[in-house]
Parts: sequence; structure tokens; C-alpha cells
Amino acid sequence: MAVNLLDFDLEGLAAFCDGLGEKRFRATQLFRWIHQKGACDFAQMSDLAKSLRDKLAVAAEVKQLGVISEHASADGTVKWLFDVGNGDAIETVFIPEDGRGTLCLSSQAGCAVGCRFCSTGHQGFSRNLTSGEIVAQLWHAEHQLRARLGLAVGERAVTNVVMMGMGEPLQNYAALVPALRVMLDDHGYGLSRRRVTVSTSGVVPMIDRVRDDCPVALAVSLHAPDDALRDALVPLNKKYPLVELLAACKRYLDAAPRDFITFEYCMLDGVNDSPAQADALVQLVRRAGVSCKFNLIPFNPFPASGLTRSPRERVLAFAQRLQDAGIVTTVRKTRGDDIDAACGQLAGEVQDRTRAGERMRRIPIAVVQPAQRV
Ligand code: SAH
Ligand code: SF4
Repeated sequence: MAVNLLDFDLEGLAAFCDGLGEKRFRATQLFRWIHQKGACDFAQMSDLAKSLRDKLAVAAEVKQLGVISEHASADGTVKWLFDVGNGDAIETVFIPEDGRGTLCLSSQAGCAVGCRFCSTGHQGFSRNLTSGEIVAQLWHAEHQLRARLGLAVGERAVTNVVMMGMGEPLQNYAALVPALRVMLDDHGYGLSRRRVTVSTSGVVPMIDRVRDDCPVALAVSLHAPDDALRDALVPLNKKYPLVELLAACKRYLDAAPRDFITFEYCMLDGVNDSPAQADALVQLVRRAGVSCKFNLIPFNPFPASGLTRSPRERVLAFAQRLQDAGIVTTVRKTRGDDIDAACGQLAGEVQDRTRAGERMRRIPIAVVQPAQRV
């Protein structure tokens, strides 16, 4: 079977080329053809020797993902649904904003963490994506957008990558790291470490590993100021409770390319959005001594969750409370609403082989009624 060259970082490609009896600089040329020029046909690669092109044609391929659908929103957001075989599909979203283009990538088909408010979590886990499948999302988006937007040679469509699509990237560590290296490599996509963000629900040991192996910007999905509530919203919290998670965040900062951790906080009506909970959050991060920013995400509702989005005034009041305590806080704009492209809406067509959604719906969650709110 042909080897998928999108699976390799530059080191991996050099080893593969070595196996074909080729020098390292050939691997660099090949890597640049694939990632910088978007080539997938070896015959096109005019500065590679014919003998090498022939060898590659037999032994290797640049394996693209099958596109099931593509939707462009009026605000410039583009969402792709890709087929990853066996009935599974994943989503990728491009979000243009003044001066930058952010691509949100998936790391798994489904997710095993099973967060209460996440439609991917409700679908259960199907499988890990390969490095090649993670990189193929970027390859496809970058080269297609470059052509579509009529960008000049050297101009990039994707300036930032966030691992915030489907899946828990730190539960697919072995595939994640080579994919990150392709994004960062100057011969690949040349993104700076500050412009590549891994978002995690809190896989503590892997936060330490990514710090050691390939530090990039880190976003941690917090969602609750105390263990009891976080256990209910993010079941992984039972394994790695808040003190351990925050200690890992603090350790991460020693090697991080940015001097803060971004805490994501999905605003759920009557669940985690009270002023008292904002104060508890301030205490939590202060006690841990973690330099941080907060990103409040208005919940994207879906019927099976049984949850609703916090009203805008409550989100703004919550943000204000954090700001007043000196914590930089942003409220995520909802983008691409007309094509369901917001984070957490990346449902794909993953088959729920584990009946995760069904199990989750049987666990009640406490919603504070307006009259009882503090
Ligand atoms: N598994 C990783 C990355 C993917 S989820 C993580 O959990 O961090 C990316 C972000 O979308 C997370 O912060 C997640 O909490 C948020 N999210 C998931 N479902 C959502 C929803 N329905 N509404 C708003 N945000 C959601
Ligand atoms: Fe998985 Fe992240 Fe969704 Fe939680 S929020 S179920 S970790 S994708």
C-alpha cells in the first residue's frame, strides 16, 4: 500500500526518503512541494529527478480527504465536511477576521470525553485521526482558499490554527505532535508557535508532554469553578481534578510561547453563569497563580443537550466581573451561524457506536431556576 506523505513531519519524510536511497535535501524539496505549493502529483515536481518521481509514484501518495460538502457563510466563514471512511465524517472551519485567517481542525472522529454540552461528545468516540488526516484538513483549506481568494505567491490564507474542532487532541497525542510540527516547520506552513493553539478538556499528563515535546499556545476548557460542577460537565475532571489541572497549566507556562493560558468557558444558562461563580473562578485562578485570559463562549444549543445558552446580559455581566478582578476576558463572537459553523456545532456524521449520547441523557444536571439565583 502506498505510504501517505501527509503523515510525516520533515524528520519522518527524511527517514522515508533515506529508505529510498535519497538525500535529506530531496526530502526538504518534496516537503515544500507538498505543503508550500500544494502539489499532490509527483509528475509536477519538476526539480526532482525523474528516477525519484518514478519511485514516489509507486511507493507513495499525498492522500486527500474526500469532501462531502462545503458551505460558505455570508461572513466569509467556510465549513468543510470530510469523509474519513467507514461512515465517519469530520469538520473543519475557516474563520477570516481582519488581518488573519483561523482554521479550526478536528483531531478525532467523535470524542471519548463526553462533555455534557458538546454535540461531538454526545456522539461518542469512533476513532483517532492519523497525522495525515489532521494535516490534510490544513492542506486542503490552505491551497483551496489561496486559489479562491486569489492570493499572491507567498501569501497565506491560514495564519492561525486552533485544535478546536471535533475530538480531544491530547487523547490523540501520537498523531497530534507530527501534525503540529508540519504546521510549525518553515518548509511546511511556517506558523509561529503562538499562532497554533491546542485546546484541551484537561488531559493533565499530556499537557506536560506537549510542553516538553512541542510547546504551542494552550487553551484549556474550564467551564466550571469547582470540581462538583466540572465533574458533571466534563467527566474527565473526575480523573484530573481542578487543582491538578491548574498546576499543569502553571507548569506549562514555563515553556509556553505565550505568557498566559486561555481558559475557555462555555456559558450555560443557570448552570455556570452566576456572579458567585465568576467570583469563585477568580479565586480559583488566583490561588493557583496561573496567568490567564478568559474566553467566554456562548453555548451553541442542540436539542439532546437539554441545556440553553446564557442570555447575552448575563454573559456580559460575567465577563465584567472577571474584568473587574483584573482578568482579560473576551466573549467569542458567533460566526458562520447561518451554516452551523460555530465551535461545538461540529457534529459531522460520526456514528455513535458507544451510545454515549443516550447514556448522557439519563444523567440529570442541576439547572438553577431564576428565582434561586445568587
Ligand atoms: N476537546 C477539546 C477541543 C475541541 S472542543 C476541548 O474540549 O477543549 C473546542 C471548544 O468548543 C471547547 O472549549 C469546548 O468546550 C467548546 N464547545 C463544545 N461544545 C460546545 C457548544 N455546544 N457550545 C459552545 N462551545 C462548545
Ligand atoms: Fe470532547 Fe472537547 Fe467535546 Fe468535551 S468539548 S466532548 S473534550 S470535543
